[in-house]
Formats: sequence, C-alpha cells, structure tokens
Amino acid sequence: MMANTALLFVVLVAAICAAKSEYIDYNTTHRIVPHKINVHLVPHSHDDVGWLKTVDQYYVGANNSIRGACVQNVLDSVISALLEDQNRKFIYVEMAFFQRWWRQQSKAKKLKVKELVNSGQLEFINGGMCMHDEATPHYIDLIDQTTLGHQFIKDEFGKIPRVGWQIDPFGHSAVQAYLLGAELGFDSLFFARIDYQDRAKRLKERTLEVVWQGSRSLGSSSQIFTGISPRHYDPPDGFTFEINDVSPPIQDDILLFDYNVEERVDDFVSAALAQANVTRTNHIMWMMGTDFRYQYANSWFRQMDKFIHYVNQDGRVNALYSTPSIYTDAKYAANEQWPLKIDDFFPYADHPNAYWTGYFTSRPALKGYVRMMSGYYQAARQLEFFKGRNESGLNTDALADALALSQHHDAVSGTERQHVAADYAKRISIGYAEAEGLVASALASLVNQRLSSNVINPVKGFQQCPLLNISYCPPSEATLANGKSVVIVVYNPLAWKREEVIRIPVSTGEVFVQDSAGKEIESQLLPLSNITFSIRKKYAKAYIGTAPSGEPKYWLAFPVSVPPIGFSTYMVSRPKQRGRISTMSKEFRSDGSTNNSIEVGQGNLKLLYSADEGKLTQYVNSRNLVAASVEQSYSFYSGYVGDGKDTQVSFTVLRGPILDEVHQQLNPWVSQILRIYKAKEHAEVEFTIGPIPVDDGIGKEVITQFSTTMKTNKTFYTDSNGRDFIKRIRDFRSDWDLEVNQPIAGNYYPVNLGIYLQDSTMELSVLVDRSVGGSSLVDGQVELMLHRRLLHDDARGVGEVLNETVCIADKCEGLTIQGKLYLRVDHKGEGAKWRRTVGQELYSPLLLAFTEQDGDNWLHFQQPTFSGIDSSYSLPNNTALLTLQDFGNGKVLLRLAHLYEVGEDKDCSVTANVELKKLFPNKKISKVTEMSLSANQERDEMEKKKLVWKVEEGFNEESKVVRGGPVDPTKLVVELAPMEIRTFFVDFNPLQTVPAAEIRVAM
Ligand SMILES: [Zn+2]
Repeated sequence: MMANTALLFVVLVAAICAAKSEYIDYNTTHRIVPHKINVHLVPHSHDDVGWLKTVDQYYVGANNSIRGACVQNVLDSVISALLEDQNRKFIYVEMAFFQRWWRQQSKAKKLKVKELVNSGQLEFINGGMCMHDEATPHYIDLIDQTTLGHQFIKDEFGKIPRVGWQIDPFGHSAVQAYLLGAELGFDSLFFARIDYQDRAKRLKERTLEVVWQGSRSLGSSSQIFTGISPRHYDPPDGFTFEINDVSPPIQDDILLFDYNVEERVDDFVSAALAQANVTRTNHIMWMMGTDFRYQYANSWFRQMDKFIHYVNQDGRVNALYSTPSIYTDAKYAANEQWPLKIDDFFPYADHPNAYWTGYFTSRPALKGYVRMMSGYYQAARQLEFFKGRNESGLNTDALADALALSQHHDAVSGTERQHVAADYAKRISIGYAEAEGLVASALASLVNQRLSSNVINPVKGFQQCPLLNISYCPPSEATLANGKSVVIVVYNPLAWKREEVIRIPVSTGEVFVQDSAGKEIESQLLPLSNITFSIRKKYAKAYIGTAPSGEPKYWLAFPVSVPPIGFSTYMVSRPKQRGRISTMSKEFRSDGSTNNSIEVGQGNLKLLYSADEGKLTQYVNSRNLVAASVEQSYSFYSGYVGDGKDTQVSFTVLRGPILDEVHQQLNPWVSQILRIYKAKEHAEVEFTIGPIPVDDGIGKEVITQFSTTMKTNKTFYTDSNGRDFIKRIRDFRSDWDLEVNQPIAGNYYPVNLGIYLQDSTMELSVLVDRSVGGSSLVDGQVELMLHRRLLHDDARGVGEVLNETVCIADKCEGLTIQGKLYLRVDHKGEGAKWRRTVGQELYSPLLLAFTEQDGDNWLHFQQPTFSGIDSSYSLPNNTALLTLQDFGNGKVLLRLAHLYEVGEDKDCSVTANVELKKLFPNKKISKVTEMSLSANQERDEMEKKKLVWKVEEGFNEESKVVRGGPVDPTKLVVELAPMEIRTFFVDFNPLQTVPAAEIRVAM
C-alpha cells in the first residue's frame, strides 16, 4: 500500500516537472473517421415554449424563482461561443424563441449569425414554432405550426430543415413520422421517450434505430429513418456541464490539484463503448444538453473542446462536433438495413405504474378552445383570401402565432402549470379578437359586392358569438322591436355543400325564419334547460366580466343549406300577424313511474329509452335496418379505483319537427342533452361536467361508456392526430410482449377525431369535438375520459396539482366543461363515410355572423349567397381543401387532402381528382408549383434529395404504393391517392382577374 502511493507520487512530481502550465490549443477539427467508433457530440438546448413559466418568461428570464431559465442567455452565449471556434456546432429547434431573439439583433450581428447558419455551425432542425405534442393536436394544426416556423427560416436564412427532433413529447404518433416527417422532406427523426418495456427490448436487440412507415396507405413512399435515444435526451452520466452541474470537468492544468485527463478520457471511452454496444454501425450520438441548458454556453463548449482534443489523442474512439444531419448522413453512408416500424409509439410509460395517458384529457376546456379556434382560423384565412390580405390592417397572423404556440408539448397537452395555460388561452383570445374583426369586414365586403348599379346602404357591423355554446349571443337575443330583423350569414369553410341545423338563442318565441329568397322555412323552439341557464349566467360573467343583461328564452333551431367555401343568409323576424311562427317543442317528462319504452327521433334514426330507468337501450336506423342494443353511462376513477357509477332516473324529452332532445341530470354535477336531428343519422351527445366535487379529499377522472353486445375481441380503432386510424388490441403491443401492470391507463390512447369498434356485422363509432383519452376496456364498449380534477401531483416535474377552477369576484369553484360526442352505428364496413365526412364538418363548423336590419325592406344585401368556387362545382366527397391562404404577390398556398386510407371504404378509397380551374373560377391561374408539406421547397427537389433507406429483409411486403401524378399545366387537375396531402403554390395573373361585378353567385 505504502509503496504504491509513494510510486504514484514520484510519477506525478515527474509529470509536473516535465510540463508547464500554458495555453493549450485544443484540436477540435476532427471529422468522421471510418472504422472507428465515432461519437457525434450534438450540442442542444431543450427550450419549452411554456411549461412551468410562460413562453415570454422563459425567454427574458423572468419569474426565475420558479425556474432559473432564460432563453436569451442561451442564444446570446451560444452565438458567442460558436464565433470563437468554427469547429463548434449547435442546433436550434424552437422558432418561437428564435424569432423573439432575432428581431432584436443588430444588422451586424444578424450577418454573423447568417454566416454561422451558412457554414453549418448553427443548424435549425425541426424548425416549427415549437416542438409540438404528438398525442393531442390535430394534424392541420401540426402542419400550420410547422409551416410558420419553416417559412421564417426560409425567409431569413434560405434554409430547409432536414431533421425532425421531437425529443420530449410523451409518446410519438404515426402522423408525426410520415406527415410531419417524410412529407416535410426530413431525412430522419429523433426522440427519447418510448415505453420502458419497448426500450429494454430495443436495447437488447439493437433496434433503437428503425425505418418508420407511419402510414399504411403511403407505406415506403413516406418513411423516415428514426433514432430513439438509448436513455433520455441528455448526455451520458458525468458529461453535463451547465454551471451548476456536478459532472467533473477535465482538469488539465498540471499546476492545479486533481489533474484528471486520463481518468476523464477513460470515462468518455467507456460511455461510448457502452452505447456502441446497443447501436448499429460505428456511429453513436450524444445529445449534449437538456432543458434550458447553455445559458452560459462556454461551460459546455470548453469541456467538449477538451474531450474532443484528449479523446482523439487517446485514439480508442473518435469524438467530433456534430449535428443530427451529419449523424444521419453517416448512418446512411453505412449502407445498413434497418428494422421496420409501423403504427406508433403510444401509450408511453416511463415506469410500471407511470402511464402518460391522463394528459390525453387534461385541461379539456383548453383542448376544446384550441380545436374551436383552429377551425375558426381556417375559415378566417379563407375570408382573408377573398378580401385580400392586409399586412398592416386586420389579419390572421396573431391567431396563427397563438395557435402555433398552443401545439407545444406542454400546451394543448395540458401538462403545463395553470398560469401558463392561461397565457396560451389569452394569446388565442387576442388573436381571435383580431381575426373576428377581419371576418366581419370580409363578410361585409362580400355581401356588399355590387351586382347591379343600384346602390343601397352598405351592410356593416357583423357580430359573432364565440360564447354561443353557452347560449350567449347578444345579436340573436335582440328583442326585434320596431320591425327589426336579425340577419344571419352562415359561412361554410368546407369545399362541399352542407345541410345542417343551426341553433341560436332568442328572447321571444314569436319569430319566424326566412331564407335569402324570402321563403319561410320551418323552425323549432326549444326551451333553455336549467343547466344551460346556470352555465350561461356563470360563464358569460367569467368571460366578459359582467353578468349578461337579459335572458334568452329559447333555442331557435332551423335547417340551413350552404354552398361550398361560401355562405347563405337567413333572417329571423317577428311576424306581423299571428300564424307564421316557429314550432314550439312538445315536452314529455318521465319520472320513472311507467316501465314502457320511449322512442326518440323523428327521422330514420330512433333511440329507445327505458322509461323506468331513464336509460338508453336501443339504436335503430329504419333506412339501413341497423339495430343495436346500446347503453350509455357515466362514472369516474378516483385514485386507481373505478367507482362512482351514476344512477339515471328522471329525464325530459323535447320533440319537434327538426330535432328531438333528451335532457338528463345524472348527478348534481353531470348532465347531458342528447339530440337527434330529423335529417341526420347520428346522435349528438352534449355533456356538461363540473364542478367535480373534491370536498371528500379525492380527485376524480370522469368517463362515459357506450356499451353494446358487439363481440369485438379486444380490438378497437383510434385515430392518429385526426388522420389515419390505428388498430388497438387491449393488453397487447405489436412490438413486444406486454407485461400488463396498468390494465386501465395502459390501454388508453389519444382520440382526436374518433374511436370505433367493429365485429362481424356492425361498427360503433364515436366522434369527439376535442382531443380526449379513450379505450375499449371491455368487449363491445367504448370508454372516453372527459374531465379530470386531481389533488395530487404525479411527480413528473410540473410540481402543481391539476385542479382547474373558475373564479368570479374571488369566488372560485371547479371548472365546468361542456362538450359533444357523436354516436353512430353502421353495418360493418359502412362507418368510414360518416366518420370522415362528419369528422371534417366537426373540425370546420359553420361560422355564423349576425347583423340587424329594419324589417320592411327585403334583405339589404347585394350578395346574399356566395361561393368562392365555381357554382357548379364541389370537391369530391373523399377529399378536403385544407389550406387556402393568401401568401401575397398574387400567390396562394393551397393544400388538398384525400380523406380515406387504402381499403377504408369501398367507394371512397379511390384516387380523386380536383379541378383547380373550378376552385378559382374568377382568376386566371398562371402557375402551379407543387411544394413540400411546409411549402419551403419544391416537391421535385425534395424527392431528388431524399435519402432512400433500406429495410431489413422479411419486412418489405407491401403492395405498390399509389400517389397522384404530376399536374398538367393546361388541364390543372390534381390527382389525390388515398391519404395523400398535396401542397401547392398557385400563382395568378393579376391582369386577368374577373371584375367583381361579374363574379357569379351561387344560388
Ligand atoms: Zn419539453
């Protein structure tokens, strides 16, 4: 012992005497070395655009008592550190932060940063405004938020991001892989969070890197190389170097104590070898950073400089500054075959009892708000196009920006703190206010468009009713004294004609409805329920600050018919003489005293209720002869035990010529109105839940279940971000043998569009109005979680309980939410048409705008109906127009989508054609350019650059993938194959625009 120590001392003294302490020129120039293990050091900072703090607080470094995080520090110090050594590299991901920083830089600084970007030292990857969630957003929102970020990068730097970087989201969707990956032109996608059992198996089998085909329809034409980190998105233990981190720095000054170069090099080499052991090829990636790191970038770069220098002197492995793009190219150059991955990575569990599935439902009001505003934004953008975009006047930019931020993985997901959730909602509401003004003025300019020479008073002042869902709509509640009428413009953002029923609150039953030709149309009055009154009173006050003046008495319901991408006009007036007024609903109350069956529904669809229990029992469609026994119930989970079943007794039925309603109060804080429209073959279920009581000290997660006798063999289907449907099997994963620890949470999946069941004869489908969690825990049953209020934190970092309240003048109570579900039963194989068509209609509801006019003159509008497309045209029913956006300079961004998967429907899963000339009937198209999904590069260029990955043998058994062909510049017809989304810039010849007077009017 003694002798060894003495020997070591002698050696150290010798070393100290031999060397001097002086400037060391670290050699950081190393690039890839073939045949060695290459350790790609990828410096990054994971900057949440809101989580524990708001996006702006994170940016400026405010509210640091919550968390010391300042993104300005990150960007300032990283740029300096990159300028110091041209071998250093850094990736940046979140454009919401980068934009905030960029606009405050000097011209000189901007030039330097552009050089860093051009040289590849600073690389933008992912490149959306945020790193979006993958479970709870709708795919249209994902496309929009990515487009916004990519256009910024394109405009300022002329660059096209190559790599997806979704390191933090809590599970990964199929739509992310193909749509927000391959279709953007990304060559690879990297992330960290997958199920702990899945990861264990992949580590063992070296299958953390795969080729992922997210779409069964687009298969290998839309696949992406995908790398899953062997642990988290931080470096191996001992290699984190933020100023407070505990990893030992390399101490290479021989005059100082604790010289440790060899020891640290050994640590580096062994960590590299351990990772190389679970990775294919001789390239491994170290994610050098984590949340809000590089606030003092030198503390990282200094250490990485030294590691690269000394590790490469050592020579056992090769270390280099790298980026995911360089890493991807190295993987590609290895010419390896990779395992194939299909479907998705949901649900995600990080431990046996930690399934991240509750967030599919968390903050249902925010989720509903985001979805509602997303649909509104699409419509507003269309009207902005028809009006002509105005950069400096009212526009949709603020709403676009707010919605983009809301897709962040701690925003619409519901995993942020309360004050941060409020910040997202506030941004959306500010954006909405501006878009609302734009919509009002666009509609005014369209209805005032002169068709003849006679001039009448122009219509101004369109009002809209964002609180219509709680029956608050001042313009429709007007008393209509002195012969005034309410005029309602109904705008349809979809490119097919719609026949729907709208409902507006009115304060008198003495009304009748006319269409724009003056023809009286049938309407129905439904008394407002007590629940509606109480919600209206409380929440109108919570939103607008004062109690609403006056009270409506009825919902007035009437059918509307609206042309594609256009509007129709309706007028509600008081009758001059008795006679022509709206039909009052007939009311029937069941108190449980009879045991008859009660039939509800005036059209093909009838639902039967048992009068004694007040329970739904049967679903019958007399047109297609579908009959099923269907029951519905509510209950809640408290902690981990399912209990708290509702009891259903009394209920009220309202019947009328247009719709029937069934009102039920299931317990003091759960109620429901079920509607059957005469002309529709589905039931609409409007639930009101809350305040969830917690005075028993127990948090609750409220669910509803639809139960049938269908034999579904553990199988059900849920959508991926509202697009492809994925087959789910209870207690089963296709990628590994599942050890079931959580039979409820472990079987929950995100539902954005809907969930359905199928057996040998029938299909039961439920569509949703916002993202929720759903499952089928029992054969024949669909379960959806609708609301949650919890009293304990889940210890996953947020450090705050999910206990949403609403406060009015210091009085707070649990949040009440109202939402809708849509239920339908079909013969097997016939449900897709309804799911796809109605799904699109739910995403893009009719937009209502109101104005008042003096009654005697028949409608003042010059143009009471309008269609933005050729009046004889409608998009094929298997396609949708996703984007119609004015890009300035006579250029329009157009996205068209096929709505069906291969084999999903016998009629609709076929190639469709869209005629561009008929979409833009009043304009002369001069050029059509097909673009990548985010419109930052031409599709041809993207396809040419695309890396073609090889899949291991035995996996490649797909039939030929079909895609639409090139667009002939004279015919201008776009072909869409199943599940295809195609993006175009359409240029118009400004000199050949048809004058407004000649615009054709759809009648
Ligand atoms: Zn994050």
